[in-house]
Amino acid sequence: PVIDTLVPEVDSHEENLIFDRDHLWHPYTSAVNPLPAVKVRSTRGTRIILDDGRELIDGMASWWCAIHGYGHPVLERALHRQAGRMSHVMFGGLTHNPAVELGRRLVSMTPDGLDHVFLADSGSVSVEVAIKMAMQYMQADGQPNRTRLLTVRGGYHGDTCGAMSVCDPENGMHHLFSDLLPSQLFAPRPSCRFDAPFDPASLQEITRILDAHSHEMAAIIIEPIVQGAGGMRFYHPDYLRGLRQLADAHGVLLILDEIATGFGRTGKLFGCDWAGVAPDIMCVGKALSGGMMTLAATLATRQVARTVSKNGDVFMHGPTFMGNPLACAVSNASLDLLEQSDWQPKVHAIETWLEEAFSPCRHLPGVNDVRILGAIGVVEMSDPVYVPRLQKFFIENNIWLRPFGKLIYAMPPYIISREEVAHIGEVVAQAITQKQYTK
Ligand code: PMP
Repeated sequence: PVIDTLVPEVDSHEENLIFDRDHLWHPYTSAVNPLPAVKVRSTRGTRIILDDGRELIDGMASWWCAIHGYGHPVLERALHRQAGRMSHVMFGGLTHNPAVELGRRLVSMTPDGLDHVFLADSGSVSVEVAIKMAMQYMQADGQPNRTRLLTVRGGYHGDTCGAMSVCDPENGMHHLFSDLLPSQLFAPRPSCRFDAPFDPASLQEITRILDAHSHEMAAIIIEPIVQGAGGMRFYHPDYLRGLRQLADAHGVLLILDEIATGFGRTGKLFGCDWAGVAPDIMCVGKALSGGMMTLAATLATRQVARTVSKNGDVFMHGPTFMGNPLACAVSNASLDLLEQSDWQPKVHAIETWLEEAFSPCRHLPGVNDVRILGAIGVVEMSDPVYVPRLQKFFIENNIWLRPFGKLIYAMPPYIISREEVAHIGEVVAQAITQKQYTK
């Protein structure tokens, strides 16, 4: 007999909200003074549908990942088909087609030279893997004193300990741990804007740090072109070119964190394509699975992968859910969708629409800067915004954005329409005009 294990959905809206508030942590929340979360019934296309039936236009793509929108039939079919065959099997000593196919796709679509793939289960883990690869590379290469990482201020690479050690210690996210984490080297935030002529002086300080410290340095790690959660700033491609040259000159590895920028978000397939630069190690995640499953990957060049093991050592990482077949199958479908779609003209169109939608904010009181690149639109205020009031206003006006710090920003799914982007822009402008961002 088939045992039906599906538990009927209990319609206890209020009770669930109270349990959620009293017992569940959400990203960066307090158990002492929790703010209630908004309850979602379902998601479809560009819409988040709340329990009361209200539909919100999604301007977040669930933190950069749902690039095809929610519930795409191709992804759902891939998930169901794979679930019928094999949902999970350990990757230690076993392999399967979904993982091999994904590996093949990633090697062929990422910049030249990246040819070894580690399937990780989240972005932060893929950053840990990258850091450990760089450490093992230097150990195997007979340079065991090269253990430190160099990065720039304003960066964000995840919430695990290694990843936190290369986040900007002053961005308020990780300061509680600063004294406990490995001590890394920080250059100033790239001062060269994406949309202004390149000033070589912006590389001066990082060059000085490399000159003084490369003997103790394993790698440079940076988000290419867009610094995301550390402030949503876009820097000039020449800066990245400069870093590639500096890394080569000093014998350090270049790790690019493409977790937020990868798979078309900036208008190029990868952020580093703006600079024509290929890293030694690269992290991808978020949009990799189209936002349906949790998956990330760390890619390395053959030279890095072989050096790590040249003395007979294995690469020392192996998570339980590595290569999960469901996540790989969905990611294969997502990458197929991306490659077969006209994503690049679409992202360029979204860039134009975001420009139209957010430009009126440029001259509003309280606004410091408006920045648009690809399917990323940012309104930077002069002061930090009060998120709960702003978010309430957004929901009342049928949009979903998640501001932080001084930033109100959108990075919608690539299937969003011009009208939907325009609506987001109108609501943001109204919120600013009416000072809905104050307490
Ligand atoms: N690196 C970057 C650039 C990111 O934007 C993020 C997530 N915001 C991470 C790493 C961490 O990824 P995850 O949240 O999947 O652990």
